[in-house]
Amino acid sequence: MRIDERSLAYGGGWLDRAAGSRTDPAWLAARLADRASVVLPLWRDRCLVSADRRPVRPAAVDAAGLLAAADETVFLGLEEGRAIFAVDLSSRPEGEALALAGAAEAVDVRALVGGLTAAEAAMQAYAKGLLHWHRGQRYCGGCGAATVTRDGGHTRSCGGTGCGRLLFPRIEPAVIVLVEAPGEPGRCLLARHRGAPEGSWSTLAGFVEVGESLEDAVRRELAEEAGVSVVEVSYQGSQAWPFPAGLMVGFRATAASTEIRVDGEELVEARWFTRAELRARVADGHPLGRIDSIDRHLLGSWLDPTR
Ligand SMILES: [Zn+2]
Repeated sequence: MRIDERSLAYGGGWLDRAAGSRTDPAWLAARLADRASVVLPLWRDRCLVSADRRPVRPAAVDAAGLLAAADETVFLGLEEGRAIFAVDLSSRPEGEALALAGAAEAVDVRALVGGLTAAEAAMQAYAKGLLHWHRGQRYCGGCGAATVTRDGGHTRSCGGTGCGRLLFPRIEPAVIVLVEAPGEPGRCLLARHRGAPEGSWSTLAGFVEVGESLEDAVRRELAEEAGVSVVEVSYQGSQAWPFPAGLMVGFRATAASTEIRVDGEELVEARWFTRAELRARVADGHPLGRIDSIDRHLLGSWLDPTR
């Protein structure tokens, strides 16, 4: 199944993460020795791909050199019983990483996504996010001692005397909101972000802060960035966004009024669009956003309420 604007890329629960088994080193060793198991090699957050831009995934039993050279090996899960591992080759020069993996190129998953199945895109993004986390957690934030990986790469533990702190992969949630104007005709609020090209409009988004609910974050972001207060907030869906640690949580909100006051910092411009205006923009060659973005999904479902 390919990714289209009806499905959200990078999620989907394609793998059995086998949380009850991955804590057992003997079980993991047996999976690595299993002829069916495969390895996804990554280099500095990029997928390693063949000349025809397919992700390489050698059999684990044929990848002794790759596994020995890896900075980190993590267990992603079981795909119809077949174990999928990912390895990080980031400390190697690019040419060496490509040679070890038998790959032609290192490419970001977002540049490949149109040619991947939904399951492939989800696995590559998952591997990227998990391996990225490991690279930033080599030392304990409490005592400064080195940490070691465990549980198939889903935990790190501190080796410091008397510390033993456990580190878990961190997720940083962000809210993304399609705001509707009150009354008729139906209009939605889009903004141009600082640095975005002229005519590039998107929904509003921001990170959730400590001590906030998701709905609090929606209200604060809209008030801060666009001077819009909202009377109603409803959940629409969420998207894994491990670039490197995000979770995008999509909402729809109704504004109390049509007044807008952009902050001039994050947003340089914001305005209301009718459905007809948005459709005209699409017809004019301005897509609603990247195919892998929840932004496009929120706008697409607003334009076509039957979806
Ligand atoms: Zn420690």
